[in-house]
Order: sequence, then structure tokens, then C-alpha cells
Amino acid sequence: MYSASTNQTDNCDVAVIGAGPQGLLLATWLKQERPALDVVVLDRAAAPGHKIGESTLSGFCRAMRSTGIRHDVLQRLFYTKNGLGFFHTDAHTTALQTAPEYITETFDETFQVERRTCDSLLVANAQLAGVSVRFSHTVKPKESTFKAGSNHLSCETPQGAATIQARLVVDASGPSSVLGRHFGGYAESNVPFQTSAAWAYFKNVKWLNEYTGWQNVAEFPRDEYTQHLCFKEGWVWYIPIVSWEKASDENLMAMVNYLADPETPMLTRDELSQKFDCPYEQIWSIGIVLRSDRDQALNQGAEAAFDHYKAKIPALATLLEGAEILDDYYPNHSPYAVRKNFRRFAKEVTGDGWLLVGDAAFFIDPLRSPGLTGGVATAYQALQSVLTALDQGDLSQAQFAGYEAYVRELYDMLEEQNQIAYMSHNYPQAISLVRRFGEVSSRDHFNGICDEPYQISDTNVWGHLCPEHRQRQRLVWQIMREEEIEVGNRCPIADQEPKDYERMMLRLRQAVGEHLDQYMDLTPYIMQNPSEQGALAPAKVMPKPAWVDLGQGASGVPRADLVSVRA
Ligand SMILES: Cc1cc2nc3c(=O)[nH]c(=O)nc-3n(C[C@H](O)[C@H](O)[C@H](O)COP(=O)(O)OP(=O)(O)OC[C@H]3O[C@@H](n4cnc5c(N)ncnc54)[C@H](O)[C@@H]3O)c2cc1C
Repeated sequence: MYSASTNQTDNCDVAVIGAGPQGLLLATWLKQERPALDVVVLDRAAAPGHKIGESTLSGFCRAMRSTGIRHDVLQRLFYTKNGLGFFHTDAHTTALQTAPEYITETFDETFQVERRTCDSLLVANAQLAGVSVRFSHTVKPKESTFKAGSNHLSCETPQGAATIQARLVVDASGPSSVLGRHFGGYAESNVPFQTSAAWAYFKNVKWLNEYTGWQNVAEFPRDEYTQHLCFKEGWVWYIPIVSWEKASDENLMAMVNYLADPETPMLTRDELSQKFDCPYEQIWSIGIVLRSDRDQALNQGAEAAFDHYKAKIPALATLLEGAEILDDYYPNHSPYAVRKNFRRFAKEVTGDGWLLVGDAAFFIDPLRSPGLTGGVATAYQALQSVLTALDQGDLSQAQFAGYEAYVRELYDMLEEQNQIAYMSHNYPQAISLVRRFGEVSSRDHFNGICDEPYQISDTNVWGHLCPEHRQRQRLVWQIMREEEIEVGNRCPIADQEPKDYERMMLRLRQAVGEHLDQYMDLTPYIMQNPSEQGALAPAKVMPKPAWVDLGQGASGVPRADLVSVRA
């Protein structure tokens, strides 16, 4: 069943490596735009399987819907998510109800997806559109040849070697970055700090909604936000999931095939479960992500890192009290998974006859869930370049120059934004300021597109590629980086307290407070337990510290222009 294909030819127009979300969405869009094209997706796995990457944002859900997937199908299959919540925690945080908390409501309803189910639905939808999806096909780049208009992909299959000839190859192979590693390399870029994660799955976690004593009521139950417990060394994620893992591959595929068909009547989750013999249950994904420049706890192992932070942050121990860790729940995942130093960038994003999308092009870090939404923006931008290249019959690297520039720009923006989010954990009100800073552009951007289908403006992710936002974001990044370096020079991380970052906070207010105050209506967030009044009070003029050498931008672009922004 999983090797099912609508076209068994070994010649195709476009071969996509990787049946993850980005490869499948790009392939589906291609068929929708040019039905006559032969589009083949190759994946080394025997069937869609468990992966990390569960918290979705509006951009990704919009992209899924644009390929014909119905919103109510997502509601049936997945746990509802209505935004992001952030708690500032430390050794004094005995209960989450007393932690400074900032909730940003969603733009529209999104979901916590279990990836086997999500990727299976995308497979069913792609096949419905006429894409040939072939599992158990491992692409071997060293045995393949690449040439614009005539690539030969050598694949290992259970039946032996197979060759796929394709005019164009799109590498959507995720962190494997098959062509990225084969050509320029897929390596850590010039970033000031790396991050690593460990995660596990749990049952019987006490719902946050059952906690008593919240000061402010959030619009939705607190379990319907991806929750972030933020601390100076990193953060913990809390994600409830509707799990269909106990359903067989065959039954799950039958269910998603039913749901992908737009003509079929909608059933409730329970009716679907019964009709297709697909049991479901409630589980939680909980993970910890640490800055490598601040804590090496993961070197002692994932469980030790969890124990370390449970001892350090009492509210985390409470969160996991009574929770049952799931051993052997997912294949090859018993019970903890770890990914170390995962910030990566492919040195070559395009070449003659090929290009990279999604994680194959770059990976930032999961704080604020940018993976699927940023990744799908690269897939949609790639689609535009591919359509033009196919129409003009020129599949040379030169055709993809615009796409290459876009990917580098997006990466720089997201990497910088992610570092800002981490640095905001130094000071409780910095979290809300940084969130608001992002929200102003995001909401403004989203308000302009929410009634439209996924489109090219979505690839300006959250509107954050606009020059004005980029310029302000660089200034924010620069202030925070300078202050981290300055505080770090006089105080080891273990001894640092929020008060060490008071000047950072004042400088941030001075830099963007007025801008944020103008857009209070665009940042309807909920704040609980602010530990200081007037987080966004009018800026005070602060003396600037001596110039700190900030090196280069994340993808190697000099930060020289920061000087003028700062002046
Ligand atoms: C700890 C952690 C937490 C994360 N949390 C989130 C989150 O909450 N929200 C979010 O949006 N993102 C999150 N992400 C990121 C998210 O997982 C990725 O952005 C997303 O899975 C990338 O999708 P993709 O389609 O690019 O690649 P993938 O989904 O990785 O798919 C790539 C496919 O390529 C196939 N493949 C690989 N090599 C070959 C080969 N040689 N031949 C054939 N096929 C091959 C693989 O089998 C795979 O199916 C997280 C990532 C990590 C590490």
C-alpha cells in the first residue's frame, strides 16, 4: 500500500526526496498548478512514522488547507491549539500560577499534531492530487548524477537498486539534507550559541486547566496553548497530543484516505475511531531545550537533564508529578530522544537541476515553533521558482538565484529572532516585550491575509521580513547580545539574576517601547503576575555600553550595518 503510486514510470519531471510535510505540500501544489507534470516523492521509510515537530502555527495550517485539506479534518485528528504561553521560571517558581506569564492568543485555530497521522494525511492528499509517493526508496547521492534537466537518482529499495530520472530534484529530506550534505555541506553556522533538546512522552499528566489559583483567566484552557517554561539556560515545552499510535498503518491510512476525500461526510472523532478501528488516547509531549553556552546538563543524559531541572525549578517537578513516562511507545524512542547542537544551514541551497526546502535547507530551533511554518514558506517560494524554471525550460542554478537569496534572508531573520527569544529569558518582562514586538508585525500581517488562501505574502513569515521590522529586530538583538556579553564578563551564568539585566530591559524599552505603545491594540495578550509594573513604560535614556564586536550574521552576512541602526 505505501509504495502505491499513480504512475510507475522511472522518468518524471520533478522528483522530491522526502515524504515529510514540506516535500508533500510542494509536490501537491505542483500537481495543482501543472496537472500534466509527473511528480514523484521518494522516502526511505517504509511508511509515515513518528517524528518530532508537533506544535503548528497558522502559516502551516493555512498551507495544508490550501491543498484541499479541510479544517474540520484537522479538528477531528488533532489536539486544538490556540496560541503560545510563556512562564518565566527559576528556582523560586514553586507553582506556575505564581510565575510571570504571557499568553499570546492565536490568529486562528491551529493544532498539536502527531506526526505519523499528519504526514499520513498529507500523503493521502498528495496521492489524491496525482502525486506518486514511493516509500522504501532511499536516495543515494553518491551513486546519483545531477544535471539540470537530467538528474539520475539512484535509490535503494527492498527489491534492489532503482533509478529515477528527473528534470528537477527537490531535496525535502529534513535533517538528513541529502543534497545539502552531498554538495556544500550542512553545518553549524556562525551563531553565538547552539541548542540541544531531549524529550519524552507521558500519560496521566495533570491538566493545567485543573490547577487552581490562576490570577487571570486565559481565553482558552491553558492546555490549548503550547506552553513554554522559560529559564535562563533554556526552556521546557508542554504539548498535549491526541495519539493514534495504536492504530495499524493500514487502518490509519484508510482513515486518512477517507478524510482526504472532500466528498466524504464528516464524522466525529469517536465515529472515525470506531469505523476504521483506530484507537486514540491522550498523551503529552514534554521536552527540554538547553543553550550549550549555558548548560551542558544533556551530556549527563536526557533523564539526568530532566531530573536536574525538576530539582532546580519546583514548578517543573509539580508539572510532572504523577505523570507516567511512556517507554517504547514510539519505535526507536525509549523513552527519551535527544538531538544535540541542531542549528544547521546548508551551504548550497540550489544547484543545476536541484534545490532544497524545509529542514534540508536549514534548521533553527523549536522555541516558538518556527519549523513547519518557516519550512512551508521555503516550499512555497521554491514552488514559484520551479514553475518559472519549468515553464522556461531552464533548470540551471541561475534560475534559482532569487530562491537562494530568499532562503538566506529567511534564515537570518528566524535565527536572529530565535536568539532574541532565548535572551529574553534573562528577565521576566523582556519575554513580554519581545513577544509584543513580534506580535505587532505578525498581527498586522495576518490581518491582511487571513481571509485569503495561502499565498506568496505568507512566505514573508509573520511579516517579519519587512525592512522596518528587520531593522528594529537587529537593534533589539544587538542590545540583548551586548548586555549578555557584558553581564557574562562580570558574572558567571550560575550567579546571574534578573536584576543583572535591568539595564537591558531599559535599553529595550528605549529602543522599541514607543513603537510598541502605538500598537497596544495589536497585542491582546494576557499577563499574569507581572513582577514589575510598567513593563512598557516610556523609555528612559540609558548610557550605551562600549561597542562589543558582534561578528557576523548567522549565515555569514557581516553585521556592519548594525552600527548605523544603533547610532
Ligand atoms: C526537538 C525538536 C522539536 C521540534 N518542535 C517543533 C514544533 O513544535 N513545531 C514545528 O513546527 N517544528 C518543530 N520542529 C521542527 C520540525 O520537526 C521540522 O521543521 C519538520 O519536521 C521538517 O519537515 P520536513 O518536511 O522539512 O522534513 P521531515 O519531516 O524531517 O521529512 C524528511 C523526510 O525525508 C526522508 N529522508 C531522509 N533521507 C532520505 C533519503 N536518503 N532518501 C529518501 N528519503 C529520505 C525521511 O524519511 C523523512 O520522512 C522540531 C524539531 C526538533 C528537533
